[in-house]
Amino acid sequence: MNNATQQGVSALTDDAERNRLLAEMAEQSTDMISRHTPDNWCFIYASPAVTHLLGYSVEEIVGLSAYDLYHPDDVEDFKRRSPNVSYNRGLYTHTYRFRCKDGHYTWLESTSRSIRDPKDGSLKEILVVSRDASRRINAERANQRLAQVLETSSDLVAFVTPCHKITLLNEAARNSLNVVLSDQSPLALEDIFTLTSHEQIKHHGFPAATTNGHWRGEVEMISSHMQRIPVLLEILAHRDLNTETEYFSLVARDMSTIKAAEKQMQQYRTEVNHASRLITIGEMASGLAHELNQPLTAIVNYVQGIHRRVERDQSLLAAELASPLDRIGATALRAAQIIRRMMDFTRKNEPRYQHVQLPELVNDLIGFCSSSIENHRVIVEDKIPADLPGVHADPIQVEQILLNLLLNAIEASHREEPAPPATIQISASELGQDQVIIQILDQGPGIGAEETERIFEQFYTTKKAGLGMGLSITRSLVEAHGGELQAENRSEGGAVFSFSLNKFNARAVDNNP
Ligand code: ADP
Repeated sequence: MNNATQQGVSALTDDAERNRLLAEMAEQSTDMISRHTPDNWCFIYASPAVTHLLGYSVEEIVGLSAYDLYHPDDVEDFKRRSPNVSYNRGLYTHTYRFRCKDGHYTWLESTSRSIRDPKDGSLKEILVVSRDASRRINAERANQRLAQVLETSSDLVAFVTPCHKITLLNEAARNSLNVVLSDQSPLALEDIFTLTSHEQIKHHGFPAATTNGHWRGEVEMISSHMQRIPVLLEILAHRDLNTETEYFSLVARDMSTIKAAEKQMQQYRTEVNHASRLITIGEMASGLAHELNQPLTAIVNYVQGIHRRVERDQSLLAAELASPLDRIGATALRAAQIIRRMMDFTRKNEPRYQHVQLPELVNDLIGFCSSSIENHRVIVEDKIPADLPGVHADPIQVEQILLNLLLNAIEASHREEPAPPATIQISASELGQDQVIIQILDQGPGIGAEETERIFEQFYTTKKAGLGMGLSITRSLVEAHGGELQAENRSEGGAVFSFSLNKFNARAVDNNP
């Protein structure tokens, strides 16, 4: 055999071997390999993967035209592209929907290659390798949907790199902050957060999100018009395969409307409380006038006494007048104290939560009510333990709560002579770890069965000159302090009103209950 013949034989065996190996790979491959006629793309051959991919057996699909199995919406596109396969470079890839044997469509990604006759270049057949693309397409669509949700969300969303570079702002963020984000106009976090909030998220938010996966806090964003936007911010850390943080998502809920409504509600509460205090003082006016009258009369008596003594004895020494003058001073101070209390109580103030000592406050309050106590012939026993832990509360509001309950108890316990006077007890004790419970026990008629809830309604009253606002305001004040107000009848007769307040916690020094 000469050299040329030898080379020809080995080429022939190489070709045959290559074809055999290719056929074997086609039979084993999970991708479907198919051959088609060039005119109507009839299947000439399909590898066994066709069953897994489309549900057909090899025998069933051979002879069918691929055009009949394309999704109607893809046929036109396919016809438009097919000349590329037939007449141009002869190789291209595209993704389309194909009908399975059970009638449903699946996404395929196919690479097609035209096979031409080496002698005359005529198109002989098309060789196609197809794989299932439904998972990729579904994931892409889910991503598109998510991107749409993100874009139309009313929350302000930003994507931020680990070096705090903003790479995306959704529409709500762009509109609220009045910014555009592009390569030409990059934005830093300092541009969209106030200085304090930026410090807070830099030193707490990002480190916490990096460790725990997320962080949440109330901060303030700032628009390019310098408008402050209070937001509830959630920072999410996204980790890569090596569990390093590769991105942060910042999702901010605009709290402006809620904060404005809260402020309005707070203002409204302050107005109502103020009105209620004015009413209470109005109701107590005659008693207080009587109480003020006592020191004033005493002062007048002391002055008249001094006058008389000086008239009698011109040589009186200043030292001899010291004692009556001291008494005048002390009595005037007592009168001033009553007036100051009234003024404090009726002053319109925003609530200020602080460490309040109840024994002191209750003792003062009983003194303040002394004229009502006297008028209604009741005895008030202060049973508050001196070592009761302090509470976290607004002192004026706690006074208002106690005053409303005490005046109700005093009025309910009114007894005409010669009946012995009724006794009211004010007691307090610790409730669990965090609260203190205060009780006002009276010896009045108690609360009727159908009245237990009604007494807390606005304008419900059984008194001739009553307004029916006291208990409804008292309940809302107690609840604003994070406590609960309850009314019950005592087994021995009379009613008991109990309310709880939170103990003072040195760490909770903000202006909230
Ligand atoms: P007002 O005192 O103007 O009537 P409140 O809201 O303080 O308004 O009280 C509503 C009603 O609840 C009272 O009219 C009374 O019938 C009842 N009530 C309140 N406190 C007591 C009490 N200690 N004992 C019996 N009834 C009470």
